[in-house]
Amino acid sequence: PTLLAIEAACRAFDDHSWQGAPITAAKAATNPAQPVCNPADPSDIVGHVIWADAATVELAGKAAGRWDAPAEERSKVLNAAADLLEANYGEIFALLHREAGKTLLDAVAELREAVDFLRYYAARSDGAPARGVFACISPWNFPLAIFIGQVAAALAAGNGVLAKPAEQTPLIASRAVHWLHAAGVPEHALQLLPGAGEVGAAITANPAVQGVAFTGSTQTAQIIHKSIARHLDPGTPFIAETGGLNAMIVDSTALPEQAVQAIVESAFQSAGQRCSALRCLYVQDDIAEDFLEMLTGAMDALVMGDPRQIETDLGPVVDAEAKAGIVAHIEAAQAQGRVVKTYPTPDRGFFVAPTLIKIDGIADLEQEIFGPVLHVATFRSQDLDAVIDAINATGYGLTFGLMTRIDDRVQHVTERVQAGNLYVNRNQIGAIVGSQPFGGEGLSGTGPKAGGPLYLDRFRAHAAKESAQ
Ligand code: NAD
Repeated sequence: PTLLAIEAACRAFDDHSWQGAPITAAKAATNPAQPVCNPADPSDIVGHVIWADAATVELAGKAAGRWDAPAEERSKVLNAAADLLEANYGEIFALLHREAGKTLLDAVAELREAVDFLRYYAARSDGAPARGVFACISPWNFPLAIFIGQVAAALAAGNGVLAKPAEQTPLIASRAVHWLHAAGVPEHALQLLPGAGEVGAAITANPAVQGVAFTGSTQTAQIIHKSIARHLDPGTPFIAETGGLNAMIVDSTALPEQAVQAIVESAFQSAGQRCSALRCLYVQDDIAEDFLEMLTGAMDALVMGDPRQIETDLGPVVDAEAKAGIVAHIEAAQAQGRVVKTYPTPDRGFFVAPTLIKIDGIADLEQEIFGPVLHVATFRSQDLDAVIDAINATGYGLTFGLMTRIDDRVQHVTERVQAGNLYVNRNQIGAIVGSQPFGGEGLSGTGPKAGGPLYLDRFRAHAAKESAQ
């Protein structure tokens, strides 16, 4: 469908309210239903959710079991779920806007990725024995695609799943589970346990769990890793996809128009809330002045506002806490006179203006700022290797971008930078299930890459032996 048709389909769902979440083993949950609000307009209550409690997690663990169906049947069911997602695109886009603040283009790309994950893993479902029951714990920034990607991989390999979506985005996850059940995934093999970090902690300590797939921050991954060591079998597979301090180098031979467009997309699409987003730009000193003028000119053209409008480039950040943290970072830079460009924000909603901050180098960044903030440093040609060393010294290794027209330099730099995903003369975003799998190194993830040929192996029984070695 065209963007206009998609926008109309979304609007048809605007008055729809989602009540609660289907929690298979949740009869024991005594928590009150709580509202889920729209980050673009917090007075808009999108629906309600009942968080799981400790007793719920225990019941779910007892009820959980692997999906003992032949591989062909699992494959058929997962493809049927993909069909259901595609058929229900209006509801999905409406939820991606209202619950997660996604723009139309982001929402379209996210549904595509979720469907691709289902079909890709379905095609690789085979008779290899499953591991058992997996905990799948996901973030809010791709509330459909990452949630589905983890769950589909675990199910395709024949595992049961205890799925915990991020606390900010339980509604879209609950609809995804609904469609997976409707397609034929048995209830015991897929149970949704909404809640905050405590619920995730209870799941990763539950004895029924024989593997953990996690996507989120590096800090949470480290906590879960310790919990697995304390509570579960030492061979328990742990697949973690985590944060990054992603850099791009633009040298003086780069095509400026191409580089500026790629940078704006890489830093500000999804309001900078992609794990792959560009955080630290290095521009060669002899082009820096003109280049930054072009870059700020391109930032002037960005439209921030209601994510349902076709012309919107930047929607809100996810919640009040995220906004407060990013704004505090910008204000600290303002106090030091390092803000090169920023803009006013709407009063209502969790919007943060795209912002450019000058730094000396990537070592100035203590942590990932998960929003539309780009940091920029300059470098001299003779210091290129020192820049690469500084990037590697962060310990993260998620995405890295290079803009140059010197062929030897492409080889020199990409051989030295430690990053799971390298982007040369293009924007630094995106993964393509099946052909461009995505995953990090170092503090950015354990591998294997999601959407790649090795990923399903970690969900199979022999993975236990591998990780025990
Ligand atoms: P987060 O770590 O705060 O939360 C992720 C999930 O973990 C949530 O469901 C949360 O409730 C749960 N959780 C929190 N504490 C837990 C605990 N002690 N035990 C078990 N589960 C717990 O991350 P977030 O803010 O939701 O997501 C943003 C982060 O995710 C960023 O750092 C981003 O870079 C990263 N991310 C990485 C990738 C990737 O592919 N590498 C993709 C998307 C997001």
